[in-house]
Formats: sequence, C-alpha cells, structure tokens
Amino acid sequence: MAVGESLGKVERGVKCGVEGCGVDAERSISRDKISGTDLKVAGEGRRVYLCSQHYKVWKKATKKDREIDRARFV
Ligand SMILES: [Zn+2]
Repeated sequence: MAVGESLGKVERGVKCGVEGCGVDAERSISRDKISGTDLKVAGEGRRVYLCSQHYKVWKKATKKDREIDRARFV
C-alpha cells in the first residue's frame, strides 16, 4: 500500500464516520481536515474514519480547496 501511507492506519472493524454510511473504514484523517468539505462526520474524536468511497469524496473536496487557494495567490 504505497498511496496514503502518511495517513493513519485503520483497525479492523472500524466503520466510516460519515453520517448514514457505516461501511468499513479504510482511511483515517485528522478531524481538522474534514472542515470545509461537505462531509458530515459523527462523533467527536480527533481522528475521522472514512471508507474508500468517502475518502475519495474528501480528497476531491480538499483538492478543490487547494485549487481555490492557488488561484487566490496567482
Ligand atoms: Zn463512508
């Protein structure tokens, strides 16, 4: 697994934290990084667990943010 190794590993049996999902999580990210996206995450821990589907959604959302940032500085 080369992609995303800087991200936290997810224990077996951990479910995606996005409301209404409940699929097995594959990635964990810092809760800070979820703000600014449309993802609604339940719970209050410092880590957010995402299934592969929602991880893609999150990645897309954060990529958009970066593009906006870049446009601002150009
Ligand atoms: Zn999910």
